[in-house]
Amino acid sequence: MSRLVVLGGAESGVGAAVLAKKKGMDVFLSDCGKIDEKYIKTLTEWNIPFEEGHHTEDLILNADEVVKSPGIPSAAPLVVKLRDQGTSVVSEIEFAGRYDTAKKICVTGSNGKTTTTSLIYYLLRNAGLNVGLGGNIGKSYAYQVATEHFDYYVLEISSFQLDDVYEFKPDIAIITNITPDHLDRYDHKFENYIAAKFRITRNLTPDDCFIFDSDDDITVGHLDNIVLRCKMLPFTQKKEVKQGAFLKDDRIVVRYEEDEDDIYLKELALGGKHNIYNSMAAALAAKATGIDSDVIRNSLSTFQSVEHRLEPVLSIKDVLYINDSKATNVDAAWYALECQKSRWCGLSAGRTRAMTTAS
Ligand code: ADP
Repeated sequence: MSRLVVLGGAESGVGAAVLAKKKGMDVFLSDCGKIDEKYIKTLTEWNIPFEEGHHTEDLILNADEVVKSPGIPSAAPLVVKLRDQGTSVVSEIEFAGRYDTAKKICVTGSNGKTTTTSLIYYLLRNAGLNVGLGGNIGKSYAYQVATEHFDYYVLEISSFQLDDVYEFKPDIAIITNITPDHLDRYDHKFENYIAAKFRITRNLTPDDCFIFDSDDDITVGHLDNIVLRCKMLPFTQKKEVKQGAFLKDDRIVVRYEEDEDDIYLKELALGGKHNIYNSMAAALAAKATGIDSDVIRNSLSTFQSVEHRLEPVLSIKDVLYINDSKATNVDAAWYALECQKSRWCGLSAGRTRAMTTAS
């Protein structure tokens, strides 16, 4: 029986442990910190041995393979020791992907991941598809692979989750944009962070699609240096493209294979320039999945925004307070402030102020 050790006992680690148990492996989970009550309950229910507060090396170094939670850096001494002795260390996404035959739409990027992932999930559900939502959002991918059956997954994947993927293959991969973030985990080298994001494309084949922001110089600059053998679907607010999405007057035009659709900007549920990008990426993913134009148009106009993203909270003495606590880097805050002007000034009789905090 092969022995799988999981390092980290939160959402992704516990999900991976449950999947390994379901597949009949000898599983052990170890967390050097405290494990949340709800995860202890799951581990107990599934009869999975675990430890918390420390790592017992003897129980870990004998693994055939290790699943490392994204919060644990590759430079952690135990991870270095495992790799030095030749033990395979993979991410939960890599591990779960081996047992999943569903079509996968995977979203990464510095900003707009959750919004774009949620939009695509909403679109696919409205089209009547049997679809799961996971990754860095909601329940872990591995837990769902163990306990559910979906024909499609829409997965939000962070760069940390991509660090240890090797064979994992999306059918549609999306990079929303790339701007410096989390550089402490990448030797303070921006190129390492860019390369981590691009790991989402490493196994794409000619039948697969890559959706990307061609207005983003960082993304385009990296594409100049690599070769991808898949359908390239750029989205842009600056120029017309043969395949992909672009702005024409007051509409988004989506071109995919022989089809061309348009969506009026005034119909979009989500305001702001950044959400035009997110809506374009989602529309392209839906189009490449074969979803009807009417469903795409309706869904983009009825989607309810995700909480903590430009969420109006309350108005005091004509000052509107907006919760955008998910703007956690400079670029996100810039876009958040930029769209205040375009969206609310002039609408309010009094003053409109945006308060953006970074966590
Ligand atoms: P993520 O999941 O990547 O952190 P979210 O969809 O949660 O991104 O959005 C977080 C914040 O980032 C938003 O409230 C907004 O301020 C900003 N944002 C969203 N989409 C984009 C985008 N495409 N480009 C730049 N900033 C964005």
